[in-house]
Amino acid sequence: MSQPSTQGPKSADLFTQAKTLIPGGVNSPVRAFRSVGGNPFFVDRAKGSRVWDVDGRELLDYVGTWGPAILGHAPDVVVDAVRTAAANGVSFGIPNPYEVEIAELIRDWVPSVEKVRMVNSGTEATMSAIRLARGYTGRSKVVKFDGCYHGHVDSLLVAAGSGALTQGTPDSAGVPAGFAAETIVVPFNDREALERVFAEQGEDIAALILEPIPANAGLILPDEGFHAFLRELTTKNGTVLIFDEVMTGFRVAKGGVQELVGITPDLTAMGKVIGGGLPVGAFGGRAEIMDCLAPLGPVYQAGTLSGNPLAMAAGLAQLREMERIDGYAHLEKLGARLEAGLRGILADIGRPLTLHRVGSMFCLFFNEKPVRNLQDSMASDGAVFNTFFHSTLADGVYFAPSAYETGFISCAHSEADIDHTLEVVEAGLRKAL
Ligand code: PLP
Repeated sequence: MSQPSTQGPKSADLFTQAKTLIPGGVNSPVRAFRSVGGNPFFVDRAKGSRVWDVDGRELLDYVGTWGPAILGHAPDVVVDAVRTAAANGVSFGIPNPYEVEIAELIRDWVPSVEKVRMVNSGTEATMSAIRLARGYTGRSKVVKFDGCYHGHVDSLLVAAGSGALTQGTPDSAGVPAGFAAETIVVPFNDREALERVFAEQGEDIAALILEPIPANAGLILPDEGFHAFLRELTTKNGTVLIFDEVMTGFRVAKGGVQELVGITPDLTAMGKVIGGGLPVGAFGGRAEIMDCLAPLGPVYQAGTLSGNPLAMAAGLAQLREMERIDGYAHLEKLGARLEAGLRGILADIGRPLTLHRVGSMFCLFFNEKPVRNLQDSMASDGAVFNTFFHSTLADGVYFAPSAYETGFISCAHSEADIDHTLEVVEAGLRKAL
């Protein structure tokens, strides 16, 4: 099927060159636009709710660098903080005061995190949390949900969401069968399947890891009471409950999903928003478990650039600004406006597509049935999504180039941006449906 061009001539030239140097021309697969057809545009700069490509095209952005840009792109407070930090040195490899400041802030905002360790990506955070859970329990198996994405950790690239799902490789090649065998996959929201797995293998299960609101296979909402059920089941079985809040942490509320649902996990993986756009991840939780990490305990984990002053300063600046401007209340207002507008459009068109929203995160499934797990999400009509994607992009609104991704509103989006987006979305839907 021929698709409208997603690139101007300068992007096209850069992509031609990039493909000779970088596999697929991109440093992360979902950027390749393969599932929607077309090729990626290259970005020259970004500010607030907008990105500009190298051909000078301005786009209203709902990808937000895949989540971190909660204040919008290049907020002055973050840029200034990075500048100030950089003037004193870009990396030390020796403790610096920012590390203590951010640890204290995380503990204040996420009370389940009694102790925290900073890393450089969400992948490192989940990978380290899993190793820690295994070291702490002396067990090896891990339970995950299908469609949840926890980064490109070997044993977690089993029935994975996000780019792995978009590329059609939820079970990656290169993961030894022995590693994958340590991962037990269960459909999200399926209590009976979980009960069965724990009845059979509970004594071997080190950790249950989940995105507490899965956002990498579309945005999937947990059934009422599902987290409380997981808490009870894991406590009963001596299994470490890990909330992967890399996407939702500091995004849906100051304290992430765990604050919204009032459930305390044993460990939490964090990333994206806490880095202010710089490469950051973190994992933390009960002090008794965290103290199993080296240098105190036997579980090894390390990082040359972990706690890097630029990343810490950027994260601190972003989080403090969110608090100062009451950013979460503002995002809820914008999200509610987008949702109300979208529901109105769907009613006018007479196609009640499934729409999920939590605060500033949203996903429209191209499907009218309820979505409770990966299988439901995959019933979204990809061809219809692709037409919608190309139509909205041509009209200057950039949604993620995959039906399985979640949209992000930032504090830099205005009500006028939302209203304009609704006009573009309506045109896209009328074309696609
Ligand atoms: N966990 C979740 C829930 C994510 O959404 C992601 C990335 O999208 C990761 C982990 C991996 O984070 P990173 O891409 O920073 O390695």
